[in-house]
Amino acid sequence: MKLGKKQLIYSIIVTFSFFTVYVLIYAYHHRDRNDLIYLIFNTYALIAVLLGFLLVLYRERKQRLKKETDHKRLIYMAENLSAPAMLWSNDFSEVVLNEALSSLSGVTVRPDFDAKHIVPGFFGKKDMTDEDIRELVLTKHQEYPLTAANGEKRAMIWNTCAVETDENGVTWLLSIGIDVTDLRTMQSEIEAYSKALTVSKGQHNLTMELLEVGVLLIEQGNRQMFPSEKLQKMLGIPEKEFTVQGLREHIYPLDAVVYDRYVDTMRMHMVEFLNKTDSLELRIGSAGGEYRWYSYRFKVTENPTTGRLVTGGSVIDITKEKEKDARIEQIAYEDAVTGIPNRNKLMLMGRDLFKATQELKTKYWVIVMDIDRFHLINDTCGYSAGNELLRGFAQAIIKQLSFGGFAARISGDNFALILRDTGDDTLPEKAVKRVQRTLAQKATGALSGRSLTCSAGYARMPADGESFENVMEHAEFALSSASDILGSIRRYTSEMHDTIIEESNLEAQLTEGIMRNELTLFYQPKVSLETGEVMGLEALIRWRHPSGKLLPPSVFIPIAEKSQLITHVTRFVLNEACRQAKLWQSMKLKPVVMSINFTSTDFYTENICGIIISALKRNELDPRWLEIELTESLALKDIDTTIERMQEMRDAGIQLAMDDFGTGYSSLSYIQRLPFTMLKLDRAFVMHMDEDPVVQEIVRSVARIAKAKQIRTIAEGVETPEQAEQLRQAGCNYAQGYLYGQPMTAKETEQYIRRNMAEMQKKQSAGS
Ligand code: C2E
Ligand code: MG
Ligand code: MG
Repeated sequence: MKLGKKQLIYSIIVTFSFFTVYVLIYAYHHRDRNDLIYLIFNTYALIAVLLGFLLVLYRERKQRLKKETDHKRLIYMAENLSAPAMLWSNDFSEVVLNEALSSLSGVTVRPDFDAKHIVPGFFGKKDMTDEDIRELVLTKHQEYPLTAANGEKRAMIWNTCAVETDENGVTWLLSIGIDVTDLRTMQSEIEAYSKALTVSKGQHNLTMELLEVGVLLIEQGNRQMFPSEKLQKMLGIPEKEFTVQGLREHIYPLDAVVYDRYVDTMRMHMVEFLNKTDSLELRIGSAGGEYRWYSYRFKVTENPTTGRLVTGGSVIDITKEKEKDARIEQIAYEDAVTGIPNRNKLMLMGRDLFKATQELKTKYWVIVMDIDRFHLINDTCGYSAGNELLRGFAQAIIKQLSFGGFAARISGDNFALILRDTGDDTLPEKAVKRVQRTLAQKATGALSGRSLTCSAGYARMPADGESFENVMEHAEFALSSASDILGSIRRYTSEMHDTIIEESNLEAQLTEGIMRNELTLFYQPKVSLETGEVMGLEALIRWRHPSGKLLPPSVFIPIAEKSQLITHVTRFVLNEACRQAKLWQSMKLKPVVMSINFTSTDFYTENICGIIISALKRNELDPRWLEIELTESLALKDIDTTIERMQEMRDAGIQLAMDDFGTGYSSLSYIQRLPFTMLKLDRAFVMHMDEDPVVQEIVRSVARIAKAKQIRTIAEGVETPEQAEQLRQAGCNYAQGYLYGQPMTAKETEQYIRRNMAEMQKKQSAGS
């Protein structure tokens, strides 16, 4: 029977009572009281000492037993944890590994391989001091590598805490491990994929529940909108502005076409949407002017009481989602001046993307850019103006990422831009040109009157290097190879090291080249998407360099543009194109519209209209067979002068095409004010059409709006029959691209047109 504390005390009291009663009875009979009291006293004292001693012994034993039980319980707990765990003493006299840890690591405790060997190993150390242990307890969530029993590398996070200290001052620690390998792999995969591919769509579904949700109901015919209070708060737009037109005013200009398209479609075909779910992603600006991304996920249902159709759905802010990665890495990887990623991030991302080129067979353009003579700006206008310019430059570069890619500031005025290469060799140049156009407009305030330009060099990844660093080096090499030419855009070539042209005298060579008739025109057909008939030709300039190379316009047009040479080049093109067109007409070839490209310098040349008219007259070509291709950048200068000048050309009977539409910043409504007769959709649209429904929507609405305005549409860079079919279905009129023919010499073009005429005739006679 176990003796409890209470029983012990009861027994003592009972014993004492009996003894006292016994002594009193004894004393009463013997009457020798003094002796008796003395005896009682002594006996009591002896018994008290004995009992005290027994009590101390009892308590010690009890404490020891408790400690042993606690320790056993700890061991039991550690052993039964499902997560890998170990219990160890800070003097390394003992360690207990649980089953999960033993089987993961393949380590078992043996007498010859004790805690001293085992424990530090898990924390990547050979041995551990008290300081190390203290740090371990304090630093949670640190990752340590672990080689698993099967040889795999795993990443572990250890949570260590001191659980008890024994009488010898030995502290026991419990370390619980979390295997985060899969998490890390998943994270890096998601990151790599989301950077490597354009995956904005659908992502928000993941976080939908976590985000604030607004509700928007639109009654049939878009007659009335009913925004929830939350939505009004989210968008920062007052209720009275929730009308089709009112909301449109808040939409980011580039997204407005998408919105228009939806509004129109819903208005016309609401019944077709019945009980279907769809979604729309737009950037909407609050009253404060800040644009954020929103997704409207909606369904069309019938209101049973009124019988009217109602579009209803949720609106969520997906800005965070779109900026998620950037935010996480903001601190370590953000450039303090411009707020865009820094060099560290660029290197990480670049290496990742290089890996993606191997694993996913994707390709990229690596472009490096710098602002020409930036040090002069800094020196003469001050650092704050310099920094402001860097910020503007960074933003202009970032804007080139609409179809996915990456940008960073490398150092000083040196920036890098990585763009996905989907086969358009002109993409880097176009992107840089857009940056250049934006940069030119930054010459205001302290910088007013300055001519701001930037230069670029680019290389292809992985084709132009064995590693990302190597590709970067080559792009930088291309950049530096033309450092003395302002605004140069250079592609890296393996021959670059022994450059064919002495850069410094390229301008002089071009002057001579013009005089020696080294410039020549190639022609690329424009074909009707309905019939396959050639409708036009674009004259594209080439330079037959004395070295034997045929130089593309990208090599010399920018240089010509910076000097007065561009006027000579354009006059040659104008005259030659008119002459050739007339010649083919007189040879009884099917008359087609001949297009030539104008830079904004050309467009703003004094009396340009008179110059064109006299070229037409000289060659006896009817103005309706001449088309001038202009880019939207010129319209950004001064819209009224632009309209006036364009109208003058139109009045003379000349056709006007907007080249590279969609790559600039103007909205369609802005462009509609300009008297164009043709709209040339940039190649980027064609490339992304089959993978991105939003792009399809844009193309469709652009074609529809253009049609309503009597403007024809043509798509550039069409390379596959599928693209052609998609464009045809989207309502596009014409196409131009390698599918129909590359730019070719006059002789080849003549044969091409003849072949096409014969084919058309054959078709016609087969049809009749
Ligand atoms: P652009 O006017 O947009 O001309 C289209 C460019 O895309 C041409 O490059 C053409 O060869 C290329 N291209 C056409 N179809 C395809 C295709 O299916 N796939 C791909 N990847 N590319 C295609 P090019 O001839 O090198 O001309 C480049 C740019 O140089 C032109 O762009 C135009 O802006 C400019 N340019 C050409 N000729 C002249 C000229 O006489 N004067 C001026 N000022 N600029 C010119
Ligand atoms: Mg063109
Ligand atoms: Mg173009």
